[in-house]
Amino acid sequence: MHRINNFNPGPAALPLEVLEQAQQELVEYGHYGMSVMEMSHRSKVVEQLNEETQQLLLEILGLSSEYKVLFMGGGASMQFAWIPMNFIKAGKAGRYILSGSFSEKAYLEAQHVGKATVLASSKEYNWGKLPAVNDIELGMDSAYVHMTTNNTIEGSQFQIFPDTGTVPLIGDMTSDILSRTLDFTKFSMFYAAAQKNLGPAGLTVAVMREDLLEECADTIPTIFKYGTYIQHKSLYNTPPVHSIYMMMLVLEWVKRQGGIAELEKRNIEKAQLVYDVIDSSGGFYKGVIENQHRSNMNITWRMLDVNLEKRFVQESECNGFDGLAGHRSVGGLRASAYNAVPVQACKALAEFMTDFQKRNG
Ligand SMILES: *Cc1c(COP(=O)(O)O)cnc(C)c1O
Repeated sequence: MHRINNFNPGPAALPLEVLEQAQQELVEYGHYGMSVMEMSHRSKVVEQLNEETQQLLLEILGLSSEYKVLFMGGGASMQFAWIPMNFIKAGKAGRYILSGSFSEKAYLEAQHVGKATVLASSKEYNWGKLPAVNDIELGMDSAYVHMTTNNTIEGSQFQIFPDTGTVPLIGDMTSDILSRTLDFTKFSMFYAAAQKNLGPAGLTVAVMREDLLEECADTIPTIFKYGTYIQHKSLYNTPPVHSIYMMMLVLEWVKRQGGIAELEKRNIEKAQLVYDVIDSSGGFYKGVIENQHRSNMNITWRMLDVNLEKRFVQESECNGFDGLAGHRSVGGLRASAYNAVPVQACKALAEFMTDFQKRNG
């Protein structure tokens, strides 16, 4: 078998070790005579898997039991609706920092539910940089502040986070959770769909300070309440058991690598390899995002000639790369170098880019 250099934006690369372990355990998990997909979610085995996975995530994040881990479905997009449903009460408003199209989607979804306003936005710059967030003005009627820590489509990433005082800060960390060390306690809640850095699609993880629950609306259906998930340790109804199992394997892999700190080092090295080629190409490749706001997860760039972009993607696919076309809404090129993408893949990409320029520059 030949594993290619997978730069897909999500669903995305998984560590080979994880896939191999899952393969070994596919037909029989432990010594239970069946796979994990065939077990009752009420069984002791799944109950334990569920709780251990939640614990391990907190441990890797360096968070205490003050925080709870919730396993949900519906993707990050479902959270866009659930957050306002749970937290915008009469007389209160959700405050949104807009830094890319996913953050805007979250904001537009909130408007279906209640009052939502924009605190800061870089839309007028075509998302080419991040809005300033160091001195935002929060009204007394703020239910929460929502931001997207890494903009997957555009390729930007926040290094500075707003001080929201007593107003809960909520982060969509779908495309950079576990990729860098952060003071997670700045956030009252953060969430991530699994299919970028945590595992396969089907599972969405929310991490929430338990006291945030006091803010939750009680007029919404049980299944939409965050409290329901916390109260039942995410076993109120059937969770995506197999995706949770896969995430457990990914978390164990993260721990074996040396945790977030070690992965962060590799991620910086990986992104730098590609950015160096872009920056030294004399304009042949051109980064999309202002340098100080660039993402180490999603590296985006353009080429002067759109036809060359097409050729770049075609040739890359013939040379053992996948996933390098930019998002369909913006075009251009994008390399998503999530945790599971090895340094070697980024070296290979940097070499391919240099060679492509020699042949076409
Ligand atoms: C991928 C992504 C989403 C959308 O996730 P779904 O699981 O498809 O709903 C939302 N926000 C960010 C930051 C993402 O990267």
